Amino acid sequence: MKKAYIFLLFALMTISCSTQKSTSNVTPVANENVTYEEYFTGNTMRFDFHHAGDSKQEFYYFDRVIREGVWAGSHLSLINPFDYGEQHFRIIDKASGKVIYKNNYCTLFNEWQTTPEAEVTSRSFPEGVIFPEPKNDFCIEIYARNKVSKEWEKKFAQTVNINDFNIISAKENKYEGIDIHIGGDLAHSLDIVLLPDGFTADEKEKFIESCNMWSDALFKYAPFSNNKHRINIRAVWAASNEKGIDKPGFGKWVDNLLNTRFFTFNSERYQMTEEFQKVRDIAAEVPYESIFILTNTDKYGGGGIYNFYGLGSAGKTGRTGEVYVHEFGHSLMGLGDEYIELGNTVSALYPAGKEPWEANLTRFVNFEGKWEKSIEKDTPIPTTVEEGSTEKDWKIGAYEGGGYLEKGIFRGWPECMMKALTDFCPVCQEAIIKYLDYICK
Ligand SMILES: [Zn+2]
Repeated sequence: MKKAYIFLLFALMTISCSTQKSTSNVTPVANENVTYEEYFTGNTMRFDFHHAGDSKQEFYYFDRVIREGVWAGSHLSLINPFDYGEQHFRIIDKASGKVIYKNNYCTLFNEWQTTPEAEVTSRSFPEGVIFPEPKNDFCIEIYARNKVSKEWEKKFAQTVNINDFNIISAKENKYEGIDIHIGGDLAHSLDIVLLPDGFTADEKEKFIESCNMWSDALFKYAPFSNNKHRINIRAVWAASNEKGIDKPGFGKWVDNLLNTRFFTFNSERYQMTEEFQKVRDIAAEVPYESIFILTNTDKYGGGGIYNFYGLGSAGKTGRTGEVYVHEFGHSLMGLGDEYIELGNTVSALYPAGKEPWEANLTRFVNFEGKWEKSIEKDTPIPTTVEEGSTEKDWKIGAYEGGGYLEKGIFRGWPECMMKALTDFCPVCQEAIIKYLDYICK
């Protein structure tokens, strides 16, 4: 009830800069020569909305704007140049019309759109994006990829009056922030936040132990192992009323803080939460760019969505550490799964004739923008692993199979963290380094 009241008030106070959903051609974002000090206050702003629709269409409904703590991101990298993700948003300075910030991401709603349920019903998911707080009035625009052409389409636009008294100030010191690994200063580092779910008030030590295990797992693998000096890992301690997480397929429901669950979209091991705004509420206790949730369960599973969040079981079962790093590959920069599901020949995620946006998969539609230049001239394409060869004989090439498909899609190396939970392949390593260079500028 209270939320509906806030929504109404805010709807009256803000003026939509373009209330009509537009699918006009998208103007590429030029380098606008934006200086951080000129346009931003140094704090974080969050824009919450609901993302709704079905398998074919999507809509966005404004919820609220929140002022949060200090901005953790770069002061120089303000326009994300990587064409990753199914969504992106732009912040436009109202007076000058300049794009002053842009970032790309994916969401759980995007994944839900590919499920059979989305063919027969509509749903809405809470979402929210963060950006450096502008000094002046601004317009936010949200873009999504067309389901068939994969081209960007503008779907939502709204102006925010920066002096609007309905902008909420986030409460500070509601939870406890804990440093796990501090490598560098905020603006020049990747800032990761680890959040607990399903840990009760007496399990703080267990959660911190899990955070240290997460950190050790990440720094076991290159290129993260060579970049400790520009990665920060902080945790937020927030207890749940009950231990564990929901297992709907087994009839088990738990009163946990973030409402994490197995059986997401009816897949037993797929562990996620639909309450993303709550995730952001708790993450905001510390400066952050990338979120990972640790769930208090021994059951194997996890998930990771680009620039949204990653999630993994804290229990030391199976290959927990490797699962953390694999899911983080998804959530940090949207690396695609390089594994194959036998017999799988068609995928809505990777339609024939369209280049996957993921840095580590290709259908040769836009290969030159990926690892093509790293392939030696005499390497055959497609590339195969010669019988009896070992890893030291392997070469960067185009190995068929990836993105759950057996044919028609290619990866750059026989094995990888994104395929078999081994070391990241040279193609993924190079892509991660490029992404870190951008984030840490
Ligand atoms: Zn790889």
